[in-house]
Amino acid sequence: MRDLRTSNRARVLRRLYFDGQFSRHELAGATGLSQASVSNVVGELVEDQVVVEAGLVGSDGGRPRVLLRVNPDHACVVGVDVGETHVLVEVFDLTLRRLAMSTFQMDTIANRGEAVVERVLAGLDQCVEDSGVDPGRILGVGVGVPGLVERGSELLVHAQTVGWNGVPLERMLRAGTDLPLFIDNGANTLGQAEMWFGAGRGARNAVIALIGSGVGASVIADGVPYRGASGGAGEWGHTTLSLDGRPCRCGAHGCLEAYIGAKGVLGRHREAAGLPPEIVDEEVALRELLAEDSQAAREVLEETARYAGAGIGNLINLFNPERVIVGGWAGLILGEQLLPAIREVAAKHALHHPYQQAKISLCELGTESVAMGAATLPVAEFLGAGGVRSAALMRPTG
Ligand SMILES: [Zn+2]
Repeated sequence: MRDLRTSNRARVLRRLYFDGQFSRHELAGATGLSQASVSNVVGELVEDQVVVEAGLVGSDGGRPRVLLRVNPDHACVVGVDVGETHVLVEVFDLTLRRLAMSTFQMDTIANRGEAVVERVLAGLDQCVEDSGVDPGRILGVGVGVPGLVERGSELLVHAQTVGWNGVPLERMLRAGTDLPLFIDNGANTLGQAEMWFGAGRGARNAVIALIGSGVGASVIADGVPYRGASGGAGEWGHTTLSLDGRPCRCGAHGCLEAYIGAKGVLGRHREAAGLPPEIVDEEVALRELLAEDSQAAREVLEETARYAGAGIGNLINLFNPERVIVGGWAGLILGEQLLPAIREVAAKHALHHPYQQAKISLCELGTESVAMGAATLPVAEFLGAGGVRSAALMRPTG
């Protein structure tokens, strides 16, 4: 009985959370539950103050109906973005409206796990104070990290590019907070933000393809990230595009990242133009490349569209997604100009039928949504538990 009740509560709550305001009558149609079940469930959710009345809507001839919505003030969540050179902490209400933020720049997080943990905990204290929320109302802390997250007997973060080899981040954070912790790869948390509030809304199968200095992807299969055996899935950037091709920072040759990552694009241009390889600011250099009126620049960009299109064609053939969402700071800069060409190339490489199903577009939330996506992790747990603090959201005692 309890399982059925929980699942009915979760169905109603998810509808209200993702699709806005409904009357009790509309909720029955939208959830497939009986009118009586909806009345019961809504009664409980209103009593628990998870759901509140949002006003009246007229109905044809009959008496006006009461609209319901999720109560944004019922609970709060925290999202953390641990980037390669920064730590960002944000506090949100239940509907992911930002209440406070704290950001801290570092030269690099390489081999500085302790310092990162210190900054996260300091940022958490600061944000909770600034937002004025009661810490007892915080459902949990989601953390996006720049590496793969292995969930064995202990949660470990492996981020080869910054020298994190099995950093026990959960245990380290646990020493400074009792709040429930949810740690995931930053590409996955950004992907989840796009799925909930951006270009992925309404899709069950999608790939969020992220192009920055490096290249990665979050694969959403039937609504959840596909992780693989130990959290290492989605390393799209290190799939081979050219046998014995350009060297990649992972040590292999011919990886996609070596061609379409910002470093790869700029490196190819500088070789073609006979320039020295050093780049001061990759973002400035990439914008300059897009604005440059030269044969070398045009060829490099055309080639970039071909490589990216082939890479996306591979994703379409492997995963049959409804959406391929291109993001990351370099992906957004390149995509603005190259997306039509990328689509054309992807169409040539992908099989006809899956290509027809896949809409290729850009991320809608920009590049700063890792923390917001991390904050969706405790919210997802809460919605799944029907608006009750499940075991995972209870503070451990003793
Ligand atoms: Zn590689």
